[in-house]
Amino acid sequence: MNRFVRAGTASLILVLASQASGQPPPAVHLIGTGGTISGGAGGPLNAGDLRAALPGLDSVASVTTEDFVRIGSSRMHPDLQFQLAERIAAVFAERPELAGIVVTHGTDSLEETAFLLDLVLPSGRPVVFAAAQRPPRYEDSDGPRNLLDAIRVAGSRRSRDLGVLVVLNGQIHAAREVKKTHSIALHAFASPDTGPVGMVDEGEILLFSTPRRRHHLATTRVEPRVELVRLSAGGGAAALQGAAEAGARGIVVEVFGRGNAPPPVAEAVDAAMQAGALVVFVTRTGAGRVVLSDAQRERGILSGGDLDGLKARILLTVALGAGRTADEIGAAFRLLSGAE
Ligand code: ASP
Repeated sequence: MNRFVRAGTASLILVLASQASGQPPPAVHLIGTGGTISGGAGGPLNAGDLRAALPGLDSVASVTTEDFVRIGSSRMHPDLQFQLAERIAAVFAERPELAGIVVTHGTDSLEETAFLLDLVLPSGRPVVFAAAQRPPRYEDSDGPRNLLDAIRVAGSRRSRDLGVLVVLNGQIHAAREVKKTHSIALHAFASPDTGPVGMVDEGEILLFSTPRRRHHLATTRVEPRVELVRLSAGGGAAALQGAAEAGARGIVVEVFGRGNAPPPVAEAVDAAMQAGALVVFVTRTGAGRVVLSDAQRERGILSGGDLDGLKARILLTVALGAGRTADEIGAAFRLLSGAE
């Protein structure tokens, strides 16, 4: 119970503050999708259970709940991610009084779901992801604190127009930038290129920057047949061939350094493109842009800029679903890398 004591104190201060200002607490909708944050001692917790485990919450926000799915996020896939985006758009349309929406999600594929939603949802009221590295059945779970912080962020007018946000370990991250960088550490989520957008400290939201690398791609569907292949010394060509044979419409290749791919890979790339796949190169180094040679560009390969493989795959999934041309997709990668 200890972890609730501070939250309770902060809540009391907020009640007094909101009573003094005469403002009712903001309305926030909580959508559960599963993951470690839902791992209760007696079995999986639904969104209502998660809300009930946050004493003092009523003074922070008026929270309604629903369960979208209850799965480990290694089972997420693009169609489900897009259905979640559609559900969020519908909730916002039905409820003009709503300040924002919180999504609880497993940490495994959180950065992919958050980025897909960031691409397809229009800017405006906040959508904030919360997750946990340690399940609520542990005494020292990070779930309740992360969830309460996310609810505060979703309830704040200051979070508008920042795109989809991810709140863990007291930090607020932009969906475009955030990555899971550790399998178990509480500080697993980081934005290596830009740092976090802000923090939640003792219940107070501190904002440092406005995410600029954002792009809206309206679509009515996504293209799930997009594969991600990572090159290794002597490896990658067979995986590319397999992806093409399986009918991939897009393939993101994590290539060497600034855009290098040896001849067997180049041949497999050409064959995949002839079979109808759009091929995007990103770097396997973990940071920095791919800049293609003239020859690579003439062969029809696209640069994914400095997006990592996971994010580039999500962008391709959305852009192909939206029926965008190769030129338009190339431009989207440039925009999302901070270029014009
Ligand atoms: N297996 C979990 C998941 O759903 C891991 C987590 O949530 O941290 O991603």
